[in-house]
Amino acid sequence: MKTAAIIVAAGSGIRAGGSVPKQFAPLAGKPMLAHSYAALTSHPAVDAVLVVIGAGQEDALRSALGDIDFVVGGASRRESVANGLAALGDADRVLIHDAARPFLPHAVIDRLLAALEAHAGAIPGLPVADTLVSATGESVPRDGLTRVQTPQAFRANAIRQAHAEWPADREATDDAQMLRALGHEVAVVEGSAMLEKITHPADFAAAEARFAPQMRVRTATGYDVHRFAEREELWLGGVLVPHSKGLSGHSDADVALHAITDALLGTIGAGDIGMHFPPSDPRWRGQRSARFLEHAASLVAAEGGMIDFIDLTIICEAPKIGPHREAIRASIAAILGLKLSDVSVKATTTERLGFTGRGEGMAAQAIATVRVPAA
Ligand code: MG
Repeated sequence: MKTAAIIVAAGSGIRAGGSVPKQFAPLAGKPMLAHSYAALTSHPAVDAVLVVIGAGQEDALRSALGDIDFVVGGASRRESVANGLAALGDADRVLIHDAARPFLPHAVIDRLLAALEAHAGAIPGLPVADTLVSATGESVPRDGLTRVQTPQAFRANAIRQAHAEWPADREATDDAQMLRALGHEVAVVEGSAMLEKITHPADFAAAEARFAPQMRVRTATGYDVHRFAEREELWLGGVLVPHSKGLSGHSDADVALHAITDALLGTIGAGDIGMHFPPSDPRWRGQRSARFLEHAASLVAAEGGMIDFIDLTIICEAPKIGPHREAIRASIAAILGLKLSDVSVKATTTERLGFTGRGEGMAAQAIATVRVPAA
């Protein structure tokens, strides 16, 4: 049974103060669209995820999520979904989701897919708690009313038929309405308060607040040492520092980036740098350590994690780190996509004691603070 998901992210509305459509605007540490994309791709039952974007949004998508499967949408949401269904390829079940609902609990997907056993369609909903009043001031009974959310789940052949038979000159409330028009019953499963739609600029702040308790703070340390050698370059934090000697090692021996890489790997319990980039592997000979750090950061991101802060201490007698501190800080921030204020770089000597004091080598230690989704 193949399950595919479509995320409709074709809107052109801009977040107040922003310059990109709101689905690409930052929310809780990453572009809004990246949250639901991660939730869907990480669900064990979902085999493929296709994003529907607006015309001209290719670059915004690429900078938000890299090279992923996408299709350009149409003039209406219905046409955008239809384009997605047409581009999807083989699938038995389809989840249709809106990027404006970024926080998608796996439990909701589980409930929807379970309901598809007995129904051609299933939608998440929440009971209406507020008093409802019509435009003319009459109160509307809320019994039996449901606030409908997405993703909406369908048997693929049924929703494809529903789209094919829907009149082109009429808009639909949602995909479930189109399925009902074919005479199918649509199951309603329990939705989630996490799935509230982000419509207005103020919704961003509310969504951040809703998201915060779902994240757990993790800190981890990293430590590394390399030996000084003649005729080597000295790379520190991705910066080439002029010095009479450099550090020797299998890669570029960037002791600072290695310590940070290990700290990040530690936050997700993903072992250490030697496991991911074994010195025995010729591929890593002379390799820029920025690549190791980017890889560790991508593993954190794959867990849904966000890097909050990096603190680095470089330990050596020489060279003086002070003149290079800001360049190193900026380099680390750039590699990790962090603000300068989220990176701290410090240096110390060891009072001429030990191997660092004798100038035989350098050490670095780092602490990474990240937030990862509570399981
Ligand atoms: Mg090392």
